[in-house]
Amino acid sequence: MPKKPVVSAEHAESSVKLSARAVARLQRRHPWVYRSDLAEATGVPPGSLVRVIDQRGRFLGMALYSSSSQIAIRMISHGSVADLPALVAERIKSAIAYRKELVSNTDAYRIIFSEADSLPGLIVDRYNDVLCVQILTQAMDAAPVREAVLQTLREELQPAGIVERVDARIRELEQLPPLQSRLLWGEKSSTVISMNSGVRFHYDGLEGQKTGAFLDQRENYAAAAQYAHGEALDAFCYQGGFALHSAVHSDLHPSGKTSSVTGVDSSRPALEMAEKNAALNGRELEWIEANAFDLLREYAASGRRYDTIVLDPPAFAKTKRDLEKALGGYKELNLRAMKMLRPGGILVTCSCSYHVGASDFFEVVADAARDAHKSFRVIENRGAAKDHPMLLNVPETSYLKCLILSVSD
Ligand code: SAH
Repeated sequence: MPKKPVVSAEHAESSVKLSARAVARLQRRHPWVYRSDLAEATGVPPGSLVRVIDQRGRFLGMALYSSSSQIAIRMISHGSVADLPALVAERIKSAIAYRKELVSNTDAYRIIFSEADSLPGLIVDRYNDVLCVQILTQAMDAAPVREAVLQTLREELQPAGIVERVDARIRELEQLPPLQSRLLWGEKSSTVISMNSGVRFHYDGLEGQKTGAFLDQRENYAAAAQYAHGEALDAFCYQGGFALHSAVHSDLHPSGKTSSVTGVDSSRPALEMAEKNAALNGRELEWIEANAFDLLREYAASGRRYDTIVLDPPAFAKTKRDLEKALGGYKELNLRAMKMLRPGGILVTCSCSYHVGASDFFEVVADAARDAHKSFRVIENRGAAKDHPMLLNVPETSYLKCLILSVSD
């Protein structure tokens, strides 16, 4: 066994003292403490493992410190931690075990989801034989931690390649030196993935949005495809996730057969990939490069009708301040789509904005239905796939909403 790197004594000894408010938050099992809630943290090295104490000096656990983020500490354990890389390796193994138990019928899924897997600042997605790593904090960027992550992933999953996707803005916020997205290990950065009874997609780890695909929607693709029928429109289709499932699963659900499927997106590279994905599945779909807002407005005005419409726009509300505007955007999209649905039609409507809570989203979709003069049954009220778990006491881990509605009247 190679010797595991040890955390330096200097790092292990740094202590961070919390305000009473932060202590109460930790007791509610929330893992974050904001900088304004630190009572004392002088001379703590960036990215270090720290002891967390209350104002009387009582030990509360261990955390990862960031010298620049508003989230100054992220708890990693309520006990003591002597060897951070060893703990990271152990946590990775248990995240993999969780997925082995609960994720099936796919070779593409999220293996590690940051706080939800007690590995704050680390995200790893598996795309068949290619792994995609994202490192979001100073502590996870430290060389011994990176080494433990790569070694454990290689040992446990035997990938053909590991890529790192870099978000330049996050590195800047964490005051980390700039890096390029690149192949970290092995030779392969692109592959073909397969999910939900064999719907296949090309994956290129060094291209595309997010980590290359929207894996959080995986279970929603299959759910939506059960009800898709007739003429279907997938608005904000990216590389064709919902559209392709609707086309391919028509064969599996004869009662819900689609006669035509059209995908709309404003990104040409995404549509080029969607076209390749259709070919990979032996299908012909129509892809339209357009602003979905304009297209829906135009189609609705010209009296076009559909039996199935999917709305999966990007996060409109990136911050709390954008909330009103975002709600307006959701209202408009849902209203246009609802007006275009035939009797018995299906609307799959999603929001991935964390700042738009589930009840806000429900309300705005209900408002749109009222204005469209239609009633809808809620067939399914869904969230992210099980490989993107949310933590009960951490509302920030819950962001994706996906309602499947049918026109009842
Ligand atoms: N449904 C997709 C994910 C959609 S992500 C899937 O499951 O894979 C949001 C998509 O909206 C992105 O592909 C982005 O290119 C596209 N987009 C953003 N603004 C748009 C606009 N105004 N009109 C059309 N597409 C837009």
